[in-house]
Amino acid sequence: AELELSKSGWLLDITKLKLGENIGEGEFGAVYEGEYLGQQVAVKTIKCDVTAQAFLQETTVMTKLQHKNLVRLLGVMLHKGLHIVTELMTKGNLVNFLRTRGRSVVNSAQLLHFALDVCEGMEYLESKKLIHRDLAARNVLVSDDSVAKVSDFGLTKVVSKAKSDNAKLPVKWTAPEALKKESLKEVKEMVVGGYRMEAPEDCPPALYSLMRLCWEQEPRRRPAFNKLREKLEREAGKHSGG
Ligand code: ADP
Repeated sequence: AELELSKSGWLLDITKLKLGENIGEGEFGAVYEGEYLGQQVAVKTIKCDVTAQAFLQETTVMTKLQHKNLVRLLGVMLHKGLHIVTELMTKGNLVNFLRTRGRSVVNSAQLLHFALDVCEGMEYLESKKLIHRDLAARNVLVSDDSVAKVSDFGLTKVVSKAKSDNAKLPVKWTAPEALKKESLKEVKEMVVGGYRMEAPEDCPPALYSLMRLCWEQEPRRRPAFNKLREKLEREAGKHSGG
């Protein structure tokens, strides 16, 4: 995989990188901000060699993706481990953003906008027959101009191969039929038994109906991302008075 990356031009020149402050902690190493050839970047470091191999897999997926709502890969560096260089998302991850900004910033128009951003990114993945398998607000990053982009393609699989192993799936964000493990049995039983999260405070009923639609027990009844986008656009149109 290393050879492939260098041949295809994804191997970056480490001497052109200016490393800045630590901006986050990933599961396998720290994330730094930096500058590469004048562009603001984020650098994710992976120290362990074994995991580095797995991450080369993730980056190989990323080299094939280009969309305004997916965090863009600039390339990788190999130097005492693997460094993954992506565009810098100055406003950090979406969970943090939602928790730290007040309701005047995180108003319903902004929330709907984020939902549409994420949906468009996912629609693009869907069009490439890829399943993300770890979509959650912690894996969505916010750019300087407040555009939400999907990141973390570590569990992404091609549709036909996604059936079997589910050892690492995030239980509370995973469709019930995809959960086979015994872990967090209670959550699974409640969801299979029909329990659904209630509507958040101030959530417009039309949007809550959409959420319920995405959580349909029967997978075929859930909207594909392209259909969901149309529905979200209709809602966004209504709220802007158009
Ligand atoms: P892991 O998937 O290993 O947990 P992440 O990729 O989620 O690591 O990175 C951890 C944190 O670092 C994120 O939650 C975010 O706050 C920050 N981060 C990661 N990538 C970027 C980026 N491109 N721009 C800005 N911050 C980032």
